[in-house]
Amino acid sequence: MSPPRRLLARLREIMASGAAPLPEITKLVTSELGADACSIYVMRPGDILELMATQGLNPQAVGRTRLRVGEGIVGLAAATARVMNLADAPNHPAYVYRSETSEAPYASLLAVPVRRAGHTLGVIVVQKREPRAYTPEEVDVLETLAMVLAEQLAGGGASDGAEEGVGATLQRIFPGTILASGVVIGPVVVRSTRRTLGHLLAEDPKAELARLQQAVSRMQKELDQLIASSAHAGDESREVLEAYRLIAADPGWLRRAGEAIRSGLSAGAAVERVASEFSDRMRRVGDPYLRERLADVEDLAGRLLATLNGNAPRAVVPVGAILLARRLGPAELLDWRNRGIAGVVIEEGTPAGHAAIMARALGLPALGGARGALETAEPGDDAILDADKGELILRPDIELAQIYIAALEARTARQAGWAELRKRAARTADDVPFRLMLNIGLKLELDQLETTGADGIGLFRTEIAVLARGGEIDPAEQAALYSSVLDSAGDRPVLFRTLDLGADKQLPGAKLEEENPAMGWRSIRVGLDRPALLRRQLRALLLGAGGRALSVMFPMIATVAEFRAARTLLESEAKRVHPQPERLEAGAMLEIPSLLWQLPTLLRHADFISVGTNDLVQFLFAADRGTPGIADRYDLLSPPVFSAFEYLIEQADAAGVSVSVCGEAASRPLEALALAGLGVRTLSMSASAVLPVKAMLASLDLRAFRPVLATMRRKLADKPSLREPIATWAREHGLVI
Ligand code: PEP
Ligand code: MG
Repeated sequence: MSPPRRLLARLREIMASGAAPLPEITKLVTSELGADACSIYVMRPGDILELMATQGLNPQAVGRTRLRVGEGIVGLAAATARVMNLADAPNHPAYVYRSETSEAPYASLLAVPVRRAGHTLGVIVVQKREPRAYTPEEVDVLETLAMVLAEQLAGGGASDGAEEGVGATLQRIFPGTILASGVVIGPVVVRSTRRTLGHLLAEDPKAELARLQQAVSRMQKELDQLIASSAHAGDESREVLEAYRLIAADPGWLRRAGEAIRSGLSAGAAVERVASEFSDRMRRVGDPYLRERLADVEDLAGRLLATLNGNAPRAVVPVGAILLARRLGPAELLDWRNRGIAGVVIEEGTPAGHAAIMARALGLPALGGARGALETAEPGDDAILDADKGELILRPDIELAQIYIAALEARTARQAGWAELRKRAARTADDVPFRLMLNIGLKLELDQLETTGADGIGLFRTEIAVLARGGEIDPAEQAALYSSVLDSAGDRPVLFRTLDLGADKQLPGAKLEEENPAMGWRSIRVGLDRPALLRRQLRALLLGAGGRALSVMFPMIATVAEFRAARTLLESEAKRVHPQPERLEAGAMLEIPSLLWQLPTLLRHADFISVGTNDLVQFLFAADRGTPGIADRYDLLSPPVFSAFEYLIEQADAAGVSVSVCGEAASRPLEALALAGLGVRTLSMSASAVLPVKAMLASLDLRAFRPVLATMRRKLADKPSLREPIATWAREHGLVI
């Protein structure tokens, strides 16, 4: 058998045997490649590479040797995503010697980055005493191995090299979907789905019916109190709770509980039975909206049972805890928050769900998915909820926890430093002005205009209130909402986006069976096909403006004709309102690549363009933004996206039409840097990003960066991503990214 095949065959055996894979892999590589040492470094948060396993270096260095990305040859391999094949490593300018590794006798070094979907997950290194470069075959073997290792690391399986039995005390990482951003370190509390039913059968149905009725009215009262106590959280969270109260008062399920009691069940058992029938039916439907209702029903059943059991005293929740739940209703989330939790993981939570809306409104970091966390976690386990990156780290290693604690402290210190930035205008170090705006959708987020010092609202997602309500909002109420948005913004501009429903933002009752909802009947397509609906919203926007300037943008525009049709509706509605807006602007969101080839025409008709990079990137690369593993496969910081932006800015500048970017990319300092380099001057982002982006800009010499970016684009035109060279330049120039 050839050496590579033999190595892979052995590798498969290692994987199948369940033995700790990383140390075994290092052993295997040293013997198969005749090397003196093999080491595996794994990427940790904060761009740190940590030595996780070695054969040939001092074993004491495992978990202790850490290198920043860019530091040493290993760090360089990670930063450049390139193989480093050196006959005489100690004489390479990037070489750093770490005494704890005792690597002095080794001359040659081969470092291969472990990469998956455009991200560096670690580096595998081979060293020999003999000073000679590695053969192409050897490089090939190690590259193949790095590929297998990447899968292993991405699955989290190899990160600890644990065997099942000891696994319970070792670190585990669970990736998930970000529902509400933020980072929390704290003990875990697990929401149990087991409920105390009390006795199952009852002899006196009348007494049980009376108990049920009492419990229902007590629960309704508690809900009223909860709604009153959430007044500070704003209208939308109240709306969510009101929608929930309707479910609580639904005569259908109360009637069925009554029937179950009459058939001989106790009140508790009847509630449990109806709730589980309900759950089973909804689970079978598979519709994401109904699945969210499932959480509401479970939440209600739990409440009713607690009430029926006389509200047994609840365990005390440690302040700052992270709650893990399979499903969670909005009322229960509010309850847990009031009991002191600081973050939440909802295994079946989705970004458009009630609990997610509530979490964002409360500023509570929340993660969806993280499959397996609930089974693995023990109450009281330490955990890190990184809802900025999208993962839950259970029982973090002390070193990792320290990195996070230090990062949180540094963040707090930086934020203290940034407080003073809040009042300053956004400018680069070489004095180029920028506008940093907010992406929001809820009324209670309006105070973020003050807390962040943003220059306006670059994206008001009008569909969020509709989703929170679970149905269309009547025009007068819509107008009141839009009016209060303009009141809060004062002189600052606001770009209202018309309803962007469909795809991942389905309204209840939308029973569309679409193969590809992201490319289906959604957004402006619905608006143009159902003009009455769009007109009602446009009228509400005009009424809300009440004579003030109004800017409206249309999402998911694919053709100039669509934009013109939407604009015509806006203008015809505008003629019918009094007072008329002092200025009326209509803009197109650039989210569908087809618009890039209609720019000269589009720019004659649109007053402004707002680039939705979340959708634009998904459609440019045909990579579903909602599919884990695919969503981040292609990088915004890449030649095709840069070319698209360059062309857009050139055309828009020539036409005198303003361009802003409102996709999530604008919220990340590194992406914001690249966009600035391409000529974008208005960025719209989530509130937590305004000061970090402002701080990055304040340390940026844009005049110096632009030619650097141009050179990178020219020289690295065949690369899938320019992230690492841009990040290296930023780090070398002291930018906080
Ligand atoms: C976008 O697509 O980038 C965007 C801002 O719209 P949404 O994320 O709401 O689809
Ligand atoms: Mg979009």
